[in-house]
Amino acid sequence: MKKVAIIGGGITGLSAMHYFQKLDQQKNLDLELVLIEKDPELGGKIRTVKKDEFIMETGADSIVVRHGSVWPLVEELGLEDRVVYNGTGISYLYTDSGLHPIPADTIFGIPMDEHALFSSTLISEQGKQEAMKDFETKNEHFTRDSSIGEFLESFLGKELVEKQIAPVLSGVYSGKLHELTLASTLPYLIDYKNDYGSIIKGLEANKAKFQGAANRKFLSFDEGMAVLIDRLEESLGDSKILKGMEVSSIQRNEEGMTLRLADGSNLEADYVVITAPHDLAQQVLGLKELEPEFKQLHNSSLISIYLGFDVPDTELPEDGTGFIVSENTDLRCNACTWTSRKWDYTSKRGNLLVRLFYKSSNPGFEELKAMTEQQLAAVALEDIRKSLKLEAAPTSVEVTGWNGNMPNYNMNHKSAVEGLERKLAELLPNARLAGASYYGVGIGACIQNGKDLAEAITQELSGE
Ligand SMILES: Cc1cc2nc3c(=O)[nH]c(=O)nc-3n(C[C@H](O)[C@H](O)[C@H](O)COP(=O)(O)OP(=O)(O)OC[C@H]3O[C@@H](n4cnc5c(N)ncnc54)[C@H](O)[C@@H]3O)c2cc1C
Repeated sequence: MKKVAIIGGGITGLSAMHYFQKLDQQKNLDLELVLIEKDPELGGKIRTVKKDEFIMETGADSIVVRHGSVWPLVEELGLEDRVVYNGTGISYLYTDSGLHPIPADTIFGIPMDEHALFSSTLISEQGKQEAMKDFETKNEHFTRDSSIGEFLESFLGKELVEKQIAPVLSGVYSGKLHELTLASTLPYLIDYKNDYGSIIKGLEANKAKFQGAANRKFLSFDEGMAVLIDRLEESLGDSKILKGMEVSSIQRNEEGMTLRLADGSNLEADYVVITAPHDLAQQVLGLKELEPEFKQLHNSSLISIYLGFDVPDTELPEDGTGFIVSENTDLRCNACTWTSRKWDYTSKRGNLLVRLFYKSSNPGFEELKAMTEQQLAAVALEDIRKSLKLEAAPTSVEVTGWNGNMPNYNMNHKSAVEGLERKLAELLPNARLAGASYYGVGIGACIQNGKDLAEAITQELSGE
């Protein structure tokens, strides 16, 4: 009997366990599976809180539907009937002059045709003319490893990028556009530039693909994301799950590996999958040789604040689902989702529930980080007053700080991950790194990563 230990009970670890269990049964491998999670609850960055009349998420609130790993898992868990989709509507950009709709026919603020470019109220005439150079200039030196900021500015001009694209795109990918590669964000843009001679033309030719996905872009569950985590836990049945137990270190031994647990006990394993965030994985591994690569992986921080009101959400601008804040305005938040609009299951009586995000890229973040929950709620309320002109006091508040544990892929990310894989294969061949720190932060990518590892390891074990 071979023993597989999975460190971390977030979505990557749970997905790995699910697929190990499935493959074990299919291939009759007689595996002994154990998952070790340091927190008392499973889920990691997925946790649902039910408070008063509202359902809120401390971390992720939804999953991108089109990722190939998502629907098969939903079906395998029998959760099809519990899936809910996001309400769609207009996203706004908040500038000093108030809320401006992000023009229709844009993707991450990038126009998908000339009309979308010229209908924007966010860009000056000069900025629009500058963006027209996209139709005339050729790509001579950009590759997938180039910075997406430089690439976009070079063809679409500085103003369009700064005022319309960067606030949306850097929000989604948590980072400055000049520090993110095309490969880790929107790799298809370089293909469009090369194949169609223009980013805008490429998007226009492929518009149906983006619009088709636009109506049902995200899914969650009728009682929040915890439905997925709870069902995964239930489905693991006989497999061993140790909750509230931290893995302190991993040592190689003659037979395999020994995991030292925080209560002083040891656990033997033939294979170990480490899904803990990279800084914690580094501590557990304690391998000096990996330091140069681990040092190149970065994390950012974020504070999420929900405010629920005893006010119907029809108070909000019609058809809207939230706003993103451009730089240098009178608001302190980076973005605000009108949660009760976007996800009606989150508010039983249709009352207003909003979620505000404060990111570490925010110049005032250090000050925010030092605040109490009460002070943070007051900052959030002030932002709501200014942006939505709402005077009511909140009836429900939920504050979550994600301090230095949001992976932030930079230009060196890919080569650092390749370096880690190469070195680990020599130093501890049956240990694998997995999860959002390395192979994609989206839940779809995490599910896929867990599945891929389970497949690769069971293949090794069955000698295929
Ligand atoms: C505020 C926020 C909003 C987000 N929104 C979305 C969204 O809407 N859609 C989306 O797709 N993604 C979203 N994400 C990203 C997504 O939630 C994460 O990338 C994903 O859940 C990470 O899963 P993981 O299993 O790789 O890591 P984690 O969830 O971090 O799980 C790792 C687990 O390892 C455990 N652990 C660490 N060290 C040890 C140890 N030594 N021993 C035992 N256990 C250990 C941790 O306690 C944790 O439970 C969001 C993230 C945040 C924070």
